[in-house]
Amino acid sequence: MENNIKDKIVIITGASSGMGEAAAKHLATLGATVILGARRAEKIEQLAKQINETGGKALAVKADVTNLDQIKNLVDTAVQRFGKVDVILNNAGIMPLSPIDRINVDEWNMMIDVNIKGVLNGIAAVLPYMKEQKFGQIINTSSVAGHKVFNGSAVYSATKYAVRALTEGLRMEVKPYNIRTTIVCPGAVKTELLEHISEADIQQANKDYVGEVGISPDSFARVVAFAISQPEDVDINEVIFRPTAQE
Ligand code: NDP
Repeated sequence: MENNIKDKIVIITGASSGMGEAAAKHLATLGATVILGARRAEKIEQLAKQINETGGKALAVKADVTNLDQIKNLVDTAVQRFGKVDVILNNAGIMPLSPIDRINVDEWNMMIDVNIKGVLNGIAAVLPYMKEQKFGQIINTSSVAGHKVFNGSAVYSATKYAVRALTEGLRMEVKPYNIRTTIVCPGAVKTELLEHISEADIQQANKDYVGEVGISPDSFARVVAFAISQPEDVDINEVIFRPTAQE
């Protein structure tokens, strides 16, 4: 059976580590051409090299999701090079968790910029092409924390609730263009995400928890592949997954 992934052009933000990296590798093995975006150019260039040397197809384009021009360049480069864009996986995100009463305003703003505006920038960059093509799929990474608020996750959760809200709104608007939208909500996955928590006590508590229950980023890669692989008239609107051991 055709996997409906082969020969698709898939743009992935946050492809330099964790779940974006895992998705890139997995989709490449299933025949997609993956366009890797992130700020750490050397990491995505190395990943692209690895994929290209092992029979896959990949291209690295440095891009900060908070900068619309850079995200447009990422998407434009993919379309100029490959003639279309089938999927964007708006996956870049940060999670500097802390209770609101520690008033880490700069971190709140960073989360809003990367987790919400970054996703909107990806949508803005890709939508004109997908409307013209009359096909495409926009996959946005939310979280289990986009379904429930944990003690200390208020701002992060707010950004991930926002990702779900804007994706659901988008889903209804883009029907005339045959565009699919998918929200992926992972639970605890072992990645670099906790490294950016500036509050030592919060970081340690989260490391202890994710170290105990967290699962491999391959779990995310399989979910993304599942959503893309459906026939074009089937739109997987949302997938929530978490470690079996997670509350
Ligand atoms: P990682 O920290 O391993 O990956 C985050 C990725 O986002 C990196 O590739 C990083 O690349 C990129 N990124 C961060 N800021 C920017 C930016 N301004 N512009 C472009 N890219 C950026 O964490 P995960 O793989 O865990 O995170 C992926 C997504 O999954 C995030 O949206 C996160 O919120 C979400 N998530 C994670 C969960 C988990 O348990 N790990 C659970 C639920 C959701 P670079 O630094 O090179 O720019």
